[in-house]
Amino acid sequence: MRQLSIMVDLDRCIGCKTCIVACRNHHNIIDHENDQPGAMANYIRVESKLEGTYPELREDSWVVMCQHCKKVPCAKACEYDAITKDPQTGIVLIDQEKCTGCGECIEKCPYNVIQFNKEDNYAHKCNLCYDRVIHGLTPVCVDVCLTDALSFGEKEILLMQAEARGKKMIKKMSTQSIIYVKNA
Ligand code: SF4
Ligand code: SF4
Repeated sequence: MRQLSIMVDLDRCIGCKTCIVACRNHHNIIDHENDQPGAMANYIRVESKLEGTYPELREDSWVVMCQHCKKVPCAKACEYDAITKDPQTGIVLIDQEKCTGCGECIEKCPYNVIQFNKEDNYAHKCNLCYDRVIHGLTPVCVDVCLTDALSFGEKEILLMQAEARGKKMIKKMSTQSIIYVKNA
């Protein structure tokens, strides 16, 4: 199966959250009037970790979105066949028409990335900007990243590009279809 992917470079991500804001705008999950920080739905989150000891401390930041899993636990949990892995792109998609809002996928996602629309009773999440990529464009998070920490393309090609740039894949983090890399 073809697998489109995002590669996250931990040496470049500064945790600025520009990607999160652009993603919220593009997917229309912004409700400026009613949303409060902490109650906002997000398809992407930033995580970080301190490395080293004082005064040689450094902080690594990285983004986490739907990992477009190889064996798709959320799809397996959905009794209504609302979640599929698209064979053309490897993107995992939720069909809002089929979703009954039972929440089983949210329970089973190991990455805690599925959001829930309480008003209209459906689950929703990152679809790698499917509407853009089928037209040859990149996901908006990749487009807006200020530091070029994100790259998009075929997973195997991204891995070759990483190697050519002296990066190594962080195996522990890259267990699904999104790849995390660092200087070798
Ligand atoms: S926009 Fe780029 S640098 Fe900023 S948090 Fe997102 S991935 Fe990291
Ligand atoms: S990360 Fe979660 S939502 Fe995305 S494909 Fe895997 S189980 Fe499903």
